[in-house]
Amino acid sequence: MSMPQSATMTQFRHSATIAIADIHLQGALEGATNKFVGGRLAALAELPDADALRDHFKAIRSATLANLAHYLTLFETKATLAGAQVHWARTGQEAVGIVLAIARQQGAKLVTKSKSMVTEEIRLNTALEANGIEPVETDLGEWIIQLAQEPPSHIIGPAIHKTRQQVAALFSEQVGRELSPDDIDQLTAEARRMLRTKFLQADIGISGGNLGVAETGSLVLVTNEGNGRLVTSAPPVHIAIMGIEKICPDWDAAAVWLSLLARSATGQPMSIYTTVITGPRRQTDPDGPEEVHIILLDNGRSQQVGTEYEEILQCIRCGACLNVCPVYKKAGGHAYGSPYSGPVGAVVTPLFFGLEAYAALPQASTLCGACKDACPARIDIPRLLLALRRDEVAHHLLPWREEKAEALAAYVLGSAARMNFVTRLGRWGQRPFLQDGSLNLPFNLGDGRELPALAPKPFRQLWQDGDLTSDQ
Ligand code: SF4
Repeated sequence: MSMPQSATMTQFRHSATIAIADIHLQGALEGATNKFVGGRLAALAELPDADALRDHFKAIRSATLANLAHYLTLFETKATLAGAQVHWARTGQEAVGIVLAIARQQGAKLVTKSKSMVTEEIRLNTALEANGIEPVETDLGEWIIQLAQEPPSHIIGPAIHKTRQQVAALFSEQVGRELSPDDIDQLTAEARRMLRTKFLQADIGISGGNLGVAETGSLVLVTNEGNGRLVTSAPPVHIAIMGIEKICPDWDAAAVWLSLLARSATGQPMSIYTTVITGPRRQTDPDGPEEVHIILLDNGRSQQVGTEYEEILQCIRCGACLNVCPVYKKAGGHAYGSPYSGPVGAVVTPLFFGLEAYAALPQASTLCGACKDACPARIDIPRLLLALRRDEVAHHLLPWREEKAEALAAYVLGSAARMNFVTRLGRWGQRPFLQDGSLNLPFNLGDGRELPALAPKPFRQLWQDGDLTSDQ
């Protein structure tokens, strides 16, 4: 299944409706997101003052973005001094072009990859395959969805929508014999065996970058499976692709970043492997790549700097906002039609790939604010969603019925007199459908939903008349 390159209102509703009817998916989403939420809360509770640390982190991220060009230039200088080759890509296409040029130079036929949302963003695998190069995902979740030919459904758990039965079926097909879904150890052992040969044969290893430390020109990778280290050290060439916003001024700031990233993502104090790469292998090193290329990707990010949307660049892709979002938890990641799903996806996807193509996403939120509460950088996602909704209205991107309905609602709600008139009209109009105080409408609102009847007396009237009792 290839990723649709849009999420119109119709597409999102259609995909979400299918997802809601899928009981396996609902069970998988509920189980995984609840586990992540519980882990995050417990891990943050272990810190002496998690709230103060989050405030401090937000200040670091804001100050870094305010001096983004300076820190990026410093990073380039230091990374180059350490022997890495730094490339700049304005677009995803340019980044893909740089990777293909390096691959051609190496005569590469096989690349291993560690999990990277940025490579999903630029559709790198499709481009590699089209050029005769086999990309092999080595993060277990990413490999599962690569075998299933599906896009990721969660920023940190790309295969959380898959049941173990589905995974066992995929692996059985690969090994050519039946594997039991109940023997998780056997499944992971088979995955390890199949991937190990790829690590050894790969011409190039490709990774993302969780953060880049400007002070030393170092790239930091955070993984839990050890595959990141094999990808970045076994092949002779390592290419890292990192969004320009992932820059961090120094190691003090990196320590704050890392202490919040794993806690917010998986509920761990630190991920199992935190890998720091500063240039290629030195003469005295026993192993490591001979070449390290770092591609700094813009792809719409710099356009947000200095705008009301700049705050979203503080995101560190921890996925915490997805796990608490009532819309994501029901619709799942694929409904978003983008590698970035959930609340953060509803903001970055239209900003990076176009509001018109992804008009449904800013609407895919209850604006309950749970995402802002969960975010380690305290990004005000509801504010950003409202701003995008305002842009949609300004550019007439909503379906005409919704646009008219919202314009009418704004007109009515804009005046107490109009509101009173309409509610009086509604009370009069509902009389034929009233049955024991409830509305019995001649059409179906779907799935046992009921529209409550308008109260005989509105709240304002009760207040004025002094009729309020404790049960009203
Ligand atoms: S918006 Fe915040 S909570 Fe969501 S992925 Fe980014 S950093 Fe994590």
